[in-house]
Amino acid sequence: MTSAAACSATDPWLAHSVTIDRVIPETPGVATYDFVFTDDNVGGRYSFLPGQFNMLYLPGVGEVAISISGNPADRSKLPHTIRVAGNVTQELARLGEGGSLGLRGPFGASWPLADCAGMDVVLVAGGIGLAPLRPAIYDLLANRDRYGRLTLLYGSRTPAGLLYTDEYEQWRARGLDIQTTVDRTTDHWKGNVGVVTTLLERLTLPRPENTALMTCGPEVMMWYTIQSARECGFRDDNLYVSLERNMNCAVGLCGHCQFGPEFICKDGPVFRYDRVTSILKVDDL
Ligand SMILES: Cc1cc2nc3c(=O)[nH]c(=O)nc-3n(C[C@H](O)[C@H](O)[C@H](O)COP(=O)(O)OP(=O)(O)OC[C@H]3O[C@@H](n4cnc5c(N)ncnc54)[C@H](O)[C@@H]3O)c2cc1C
Repeated sequence: MTSAAACSATDPWLAHSVTIDRVIPETPGVATYDFVFTDDNVGGRYSFLPGQFNMLYLPGVGEVAISISGNPADRSKLPHTIRVAGNVTQELARLGEGGSLGLRGPFGASWPLADCAGMDVVLVAGGIGLAPLRPAIYDLLANRDRYGRLTLLYGSRTPAGLLYTDEYEQWRARGLDIQTTVDRTTDHWKGNVGVVTTLLERLTLPRPENTALMTCGPEVMMWYTIQSARECGFRDDNLYVSLERNMNCAVGLCGHCQFGPEFICKDGPVFRYDRVTSILKVDDL
């Protein structure tokens, strides 16, 4: 089971003021924004679990769901890695360092890291899908001795689209096997070319039945990743996906992201695969 959201001591309806402390350009159109709470008391109470998201509010523009991409153990900053998509994300990029906005959260279910103790763990990310997995990487590496083999398989359209490349060396040194691949190569690229599922199919898995897989990226990528994992011998109840849908309230009331009994905002965004097989088959839900 994924862990329930239980770490907010704040009112889920109340947006708190945060300031953009730093903007780190990552890849074309994508940057990481480090937020700090204007009120230290709120910042002191705030904590999150890997895989959770916040609602970012720009008055007069709108509110959007964005995953938290930082280290849950580092309370000094609250990073969010954001791709400019439309009105809110464009305005956020325009605000830049020193700008302020509203933030409510954290919301949603987290990656089931505690349940994976003693297991091997494979993370499979596509493009900006590495952002919600980065807190899981920090947490897994901070508790390295609790897990068996840790592997990150990461695919992007181009080499320039790979996120957080300056951290890979440190992650490798701490025990994470990282394999990357790109859809389209450039002259300088000496690595793998092809979809991320090819990396999974080539992986030597000593005990697939005791390996957890967590994936985030475009839905079609997650779908094929899950199919490959099942063929490799993973158990359905060890497969986890993070789903992204348009959502408004983030607390399971407005119904925008409801699918049958599941609310993506409240029961997800992290789901065990066998609970959402039917959702994954519906486009543009
Ligand atoms: C749980 C969750 C976590 C997310 N985490 C991140 C993240 O870490 N980084 C990031 O860059 N984005 C993330 N997103 C997507 C982000 O919420 C949307 O890109 C954002 O709402 C766009 O807002 P906008 O006003 O800039 O664009 P809009 O003008 O609202 O939309 C621009 C385009 O994006 C589409 N869109 C809007 N919302 C979504 C959505 N939720 N899913 C898919 N397409 C959408 C619209 O249909 C439109 O085509 C997340 C979404 C969810 C639900």
